[in-house]
Amino acid sequence: MSFKESIQLNTQLGYFEGEIPVNYQYTLGIAGTKFFETLMNEGQFVASECKTCGVKTIYPLIYCEECFSAIDTYVPVGLEGELYSFTKCYRDYQGKEYQTPHLIGLIRFEGIKGGIIHRLGIDDKEVHIGMKVKAKLKPAKERNGTLEDILYFEKS
Ligand SMILES: [Zn+2]
Repeated sequence: MSFKESIQLNTQLGYFEGEIPVNYQYTLGIAGTKFFETLMNEGQFVASECKTCGVKTIYPLIYCEECFSAIDTYVPVGLEGELYSFTKCYRDYQGKEYQTPHLIGLIRFEGIKGGIIHRLGIDDKEVHIGMKVKAKLKPAKERNGTLEDILYFEKS
């Protein structure tokens, strides 16, 4: 393949297998930890809230992107939001075709900057932008503080 050809499928990408030593641990940081601990332990989302300008953000931040103030306040958001956008996926990231296409949506929350991208558990004949949706979580004892604690968003 020359540089003039374009890649049509991600299966055309080349890669080399091997091992790269990784001598550090990635952490979620203060705000990310707060988000996932709250999801796991309380079964709801939290946003950060800037006490200087009032902007609330999900995923939460430790500084305000609007006024650069430090943030140490988190507010509960619940699990209900609005479907801001969505797409239908026919293949997984390796190019393998799904048996049933998946719907992926961007969910936003009233009065909050940002949003969550996740699977939708909604029939593709019913899905539409602006519909109210609610996160369906794993049972409490099965949660481990990751995005996989959210099974999908469904009609609320
Ligand atoms: Zn601010």
